[in-house]
Amino acid sequence: MLYRKMPKNGDELSILGFGLMRLPVTKEGRIDAPRAVRQIQDAIDQGINYLDTAWPYHAGESENVLGRALADGYRDKVKIATKLPSWMIKSRTDMDTYLNAQLKKLQTDRIDYYLLHALAGQPWDQLEALGVKDFLDEAKADGRIVNAGFSFHGRLDDFKRIVDGYPWEFCQIQYNYLDEENQAGTEGLRYAASRDLGIVIMEPLRGGNLGLPTPPADVGAVWEKAAVKRTPVEWALRWVWNHPEVTVVLSGMNEEAHIEENLAIASEALPNSLTEDELKLVEAASRKYKTLMKVGCTGCGYCMPCPSDVHIPGCFEVYNKMHMFGNEQEGKFMYAIRMSGMISGTPGWASQCVQCGECLEKCPQQIEIPDVLESVAEELEDADLEKRVAMGKKMLNIE
Ligand code: SF4
Ligand code: SF4
Repeated sequence: MLYRKMPKNGDELSILGFGLMRLPVTKEGRIDAPRAVRQIQDAIDQGINYLDTAWPYHAGESENVLGRALADGYRDKVKIATKLPSWMIKSRTDMDTYLNAQLKKLQTDRIDYYLLHALAGQPWDQLEALGVKDFLDEAKADGRIVNAGFSFHGRLDDFKRIVDGYPWEFCQIQYNYLDEENQAGTEGLRYAASRDLGIVIMEPLRGGNLGLPTPPADVGAVWEKAAVKRTPVEWALRWVWNHPEVTVVLSGMNEEAHIEENLAIASEALPNSLTEDELKLVEAASRKYKTLMKVGCTGCGYCMPCPSDVHIPGCFEVYNKMHMFGNEQEGKFMYAIRMSGMISGTPGWASQCVQCGECLEKCPQQIEIPDVLESVAEELEDADLEKRVAMGKKMLNIE
């Protein structure tokens, strides 16, 4: 296992972090706890020392299972990361209530890396108004949390604003070879690194899709040209680790074989270790994926805000993902979670578009936004939409 240093505190963290949102489950859909505990302890024995969970993962069970896995003398070998469920916070008191409950579930007296979960501009403004900076200061002073950070799924300008809004030790962003210009993207990665933040990466495989053993044929043909043959998972992970700004890459692992594969890749993924030719291949694969996209949206967010609250870049991101990877059910489910406003507080459905045209001249890609939104609504807002919203709320423990 290779390790990289957290810039502000010198912690040596394994470059592969164990993401605990997709643990193995039983036929009834609950975590297969004995198997999950074994996997976590084995991974620690093989050098992983960063474990990432959150309040809503596995409907609240992930934190409990991690607490159980670390009870047998493993706690002091690792750093635990968990997150404040930002969307459930209605008062300053709620922040302490959740943190104290999490300490109990994790059977520990401190969270090494504590994040505000799923920030974007609006949730950050709300938390700030409710006193989240004071909460973080206090929890650090009394030792309940050691390092403060945030995870992010919003626009680049909001990302920079949040980076500069508190003396964070770290942040967590979505980053992979398709998302260089989406959300925080490469510019955000460099911005956070220039301010000495450690950077934890989520979605290095875009929800597993970049790691499918059989990629779309055009992409497979690109990998065939490589002098050194690698699996799609290895290309995707190696590309992320090639960036020296990256500290830890999270992988949501639940199969023993995947854990072994990731551990092997993590043992040789040094920064700047891909050759020029290999980087060109990854660029070519990325271009191929992008030709499969339905809409050429880069997620820049210049079209926002929409007077009808349509979350334009979010709608296009989910729509593209569904068409690139052909996973219709997952696409529709993600759309229901993200656009219902259950996390952000404001619904942003494509069908809210009233065709006012205000966004059209703001889009640098000259996308016919209202027309494409109509197609998004047609495909993703079917008769089962309400059922998916209800299922999402249940999964995230939202009333
Ligand atoms: S055309 Fe639709 S998406 Fe664009 S600003 Fe108007 S309501 Fe919003
Ligand atoms: S629709 Fe255009 S302006 Fe809006 S996020 Fe996409 S590329 Fe940017």
